[in-house]
Amino acid sequence: MPDAPLSSPRSQLFRRITDRRDEVAALTQALVRIPTINPPGDAYTPCAELIGDRLANRGFAVSYIRAEGTPGDSDRYPRINVVARIESGRPGPTVHFNSHIDVVEAGQGWTRDPWAGEIDDGKVWGRGTCDMKGGLAASIIAVEAILDSGLPWTGAIEISGTVDEESGGFGGVAYLAAKGFFSKPRVDHVIIPEPLNPDRVCLGHRGVWWAEIETKGRIAHGSMPFLGVSAIRHMGAVLDALDRDLQPVLDARRTAMPVVPEGARASTLNCNSVHGGQPEGFDGLPSPCVADSCRLVIDRRFLIEEPFERVRGEVVEILERLRLSRPHFAYSIRDVMTVHPVMTAPDAPVVQALDAEIAAVFGRASTHIASPGTYDQKHIARIGHLHDCVAYGPGILELAHQPDEWVGIDDMVASAQVMAAATLRLQGCGV
Ligand SMILES: [Zn+2]
Repeated sequence: MPDAPLSSPRSQLFRRITDRRDEVAALTQALVRIPTINPPGDAYTPCAELIGDRLANRGFAVSYIRAEGTPGDSDRYPRINVVARIESGRPGPTVHFNSHIDVVEAGQGWTRDPWAGEIDDGKVWGRGTCDMKGGLAASIIAVEAILDSGLPWTGAIEISGTVDEESGGFGGVAYLAAKGFFSKPRVDHVIIPEPLNPDRVCLGHRGVWWAEIETKGRIAHGSMPFLGVSAIRHMGAVLDALDRDLQPVLDARRTAMPVVPEGARASTLNCNSVHGGQPEGFDGLPSPCVADSCRLVIDRRFLIEEPFERVRGEVVEILERLRLSRPHFAYSIRDVMTVHPVMTAPDAPVVQALDAEIAAVFGRASTHIASPGTYDQKHIARIGHLHDCVAYGPGILELAHQPDEWVGIDDMVASAQVMAAATLRLQGCGV
């Protein structure tokens, strides 16, 4: 796309955003300085209020919605979500920007204060800068620039800050989706500013199945293990069969979804934890016992091409084979969480609008990707039945959850320009 003349509505809008460079960084800093660590879900209320107060001052109608009774919700750690909406007074669709406000713990290995929001080298540093308070700040600046522009935007714009994405989103987007916040006619297009690099559009994600497998044995004196049945040896056989029989099959499966990184286009299995025998964490020596229980948690990421029944069935088949072939083999399996894969069509309106504006801002075609892990899009698709939803935002995916996490200020400015122009395009008044 040729450069717009300096006085065009597009260049004026973009200049309004460039002029707010310090403001987008300052807003990110302010958000990062509220340590919304999940678990346990700390400081959600002040973070939601920071967003709500700011938008209320700009004329948004602001609601705070506590997800009472959802996992982790308590008076000490209330699950407070904020949803802000502003109407243009002209008919048109609603564009919604949804960001999660929770972050994971800082962890070890930082060379900077994870909660200071330090600015250095054109970046804001700290836990949650990239995932995803930088994206939230960019979306707020984008929308404020539209409001200030005097351009005839239509319909409505919503901005939400939701909780618990890092722990499944049940007290956040899932809760709101069940109450109609992410369905037509209230909302038409949703952009989730997760950190996926500012020139890429993320169409969806793979599925997840977490399950706990327990092998069962019989306790006996450890000096005479032949009198008992070792659940740990049984689990060894399970691990061996998963490795030998299932892993090569999964490695060979490939999805047509544009999952990044490339390795995640295969189906994957991770053994999340394994524990058998006497409890860990005590001082002193264990007593000699044959383990009567061993538990394994598996994290199976599956492809849109794989029916869930097959994903689960091929693990059960291995366990059943062992039950028939191994003396005294007994097991149980418990589903912990299932998330089905989702993918928005590449020709959906929100994708087309972002593609066009990425090309305009960056001077190159956008890349479509899909995420190896899940994010809140699943709830919008499955519960809200809204399929015009993608993730798009600044920040480098690989930095999420790492020490010395940062977001680039230039990336926030560029993606805010894309967000603002794409919103106008979706509302039929593109610049
Ligand atoms: Zn995130």
